[in-house]
Amino acid sequence: ERIGYAVVGLGHLALEEVIPALFNCKFSRLAALVSGDNKKMEKVALQYGISPSCCYTYECFDELRDNPDVKVIYIILPNSMHMEFTIRGARAGKHILCEKPMANSSTECRKMITACNKAKVKLMIAYRMHFQPHTLKLKEMVSKNRFGEVRYIEAANGQSSANPEHWRHQAKLAGGGALPDIGIYCLNTIRFILQKEPTEVFAYQYSTPEDPLFKDTEELISWQMKFREGLIASCMAHYKVREIKTLRIHAERGWMFMDRAFAYKGQQLSTSRADGEEEIEEKISLSEPNQFAAEMDHFSQCILTKRAPNTPGEEGLRDQIIMEAIYKSANTGKPVRIKDYKY
Ligand code: NAD
Repeated sequence: ERIGYAVVGLGHLALEEVIPALFNCKFSRLAALVSGDNKKMEKVALQYGISPSCCYTYECFDELRDNPDVKVIYIILPNSMHMEFTIRGARAGKHILCEKPMANSSTECRKMITACNKAKVKLMIAYRMHFQPHTLKLKEMVSKNRFGEVRYIEAANGQSSANPEHWRHQAKLAGGGALPDIGIYCLNTIRFILQKEPTEVFAYQYSTPEDPLFKDTEELISWQMKFREGLIASCMAHYKVREIKTLRIHAERGWMFMDRAFAYKGQQLSTSRADGEEEIEEKISLSEPNQFAAEMDHFSQCILTKRAPNTPGEEGLRDQIIMEAIYKSANTGKPVRIKDYKY
């Protein structure tokens, strides 16, 4: 059995990655479309063989309730719209897969979790790195202390942005700038690999004055997270640099480095250690299944076997709590302790 998905929002990610990946899935398939643009939706429906009766506008979204072919609603809208469509989708009795960042505040995240619990539907946040083989390998090496205890982590996610009209550069729609959009990959992947939560953060942010791209949101955010005494992660997210996506884990006797760490594909993992006098560098090659297909098939299997997803709403909430602490630190110039992650 393949679980039917309704894809909400036909933007870049939906059209370029998610919908094609649905045709690459074992347990998931495209069943319906939701868009504010009827012309675009007609074209996409024709291309992928979706009947007009399975095409919905935002206004008639709630009618998904009466479509038994749809089991999951996958929300791929601007961040500020995630809460509304998650709650409406849950009320329509459908399981929800929601893009990252989960929402624009921890208050919104909590409302989304409550609505899904109340409707007895599953909620998963689309953290594709949890299904990426090189990332899973790093997690395994860290948990087995492959090179001794981890001492320091560096992560960077940078790109260059050009269109000030895009919702990503409007705080109301995006909830922030580089941090919730791309910095969240550094944050979430490090938490996932370590299987630990930071207890304290310290951050700095910057936006070039007069640059229309950053009138409303940050261009650069640079932050440190303390996980325990002697284990710090140092991260940056930047909207005005040559693309970079790297993760390096420094342990007592070696380091592990992932290039293209947060990309859709092409991850490269290498390690270095000293063996006596000798310096040993190793490249680890692994096969690369489509990250989006792996993520959706995980959720579908959770539904088929009645399990909880690996990246539930609580995971999105924790990142949101940490991002709020990061902004608080950047705004006050002081470290911020994080005591309570509870839902
Ligand atoms: P996009 O701008 O390409 O698409 C957004 C869609 O929402 C468009 O079709 C647009 O028409 C629609 N929309 C509805 N109301 C809108 C409004 N008021 N303003 C602007 N657009 C509106 O964006 P995207 O890159 O596809 O991102 C969508 C979501 O997916 C975001 O939450 C983003 O963070 C997430 N995303 C995740 C990944 C990933 O790798 N998991 C990658 C890119 C984006």
